[in-house]
Amino acid sequence: MFNYYEDAFPIKSEMNYYNHHNDNEFKINSLRISLTGECNEDCFYCHNEGISKSSKYKLEIEHIISTIYSLKEFGLKKVKLTGGEPFLYKKIKQLIHAIKQIGDIDIFITTNGTLISKRIDEINPSLIKKISISLDTLNKEKYKLITGKNFHKEILEGLNILFEKNFNIEIDSILLKSINTNKKDLLQIIDFCVSKSFNLQFIELSNAGNLNFYKKYYADPLAVLKKVGFDFNIDKYNDRKIIKYKGINITLCRSVKDTCFSSNGRCTGLRMLPNGQLKDFNY
Ligand code: SF4
Repeated sequence: MFNYYEDAFPIKSEMNYYNHHNDNEFKINSLRISLTGECNEDCFYCHNEGISKSSKYKLEIEHIISTIYSLKEFGLKKVKLTGGEPFLYKKIKQLIHAIKQIGDIDIFITTNGTLISKRIDEINPSLIKKISISLDTLNKEKYKLITGKNFHKEILEGLNILFEKNFNIEIDSILLKSINTNKKDLLQIIDFCVSKSFNLQFIELSNAGNLNFYKKYYADPLAVLKKVGFDFNIDKYNDRKIIKYKGINITLCRSVKDTCFSSNGRCTGLRMLPNGQLKDFNY
């Protein structure tokens, strides 16, 4: 069980120590919060933030809010609610309202999208900066192969509801060699996003420790798009490559640990695990 004073406070003390002994200030801009370790899907590449899938850990709202208050002193500006599956967290509505009451914190949600139609009344587009839906393929059979579940229909229903309610939506698609990297699958998801004006992120598979698995499925997004003859120009932005295509942005992302470093090379993001532990992205 998370103990705020034992688990969160040492990080605060460490940051204060660092700031008093260094010219460059220690800054934390973002906090990625895994609300629960539970998920209703079973993606074959899931690393579950290093927490066992069978664990029943869930964060308490008070702990989350206390941690956000502490990190605001160090520049916290955005939180990303994720899981497991964040919509399995029963108190998501109360949590969103509690975070908004702190002020000056943007809320992002990353979800597999399968529970949106059931819980849409609990989220308000004016309180959510962006909602990212994980969708690696529009092919039903491949969706089942990747996620182990048959939620293809539910996810598309959820996307339509979010679209009608004017949420800022982005599709996150992990590229998996010899599964979704062929021309047909890539163009299918790009065309779908163009038709709905959703921005799209092609994300590299992260190396969670199993090197053979990583080598088998890893695909470089830029190389993949070049190989299938997709016609594009790149506008580089931070460490990400952005392609402007038919009114949407297609972003080519490296794994998560490459995306949160400041110009002085220091990590500016933290993760909060379902057991309350705070970690940086160097896992
Ligand atoms: S939807 Fe996300 S949390 Fe759930 S199994 Fe897939 S990768 Fe893991």
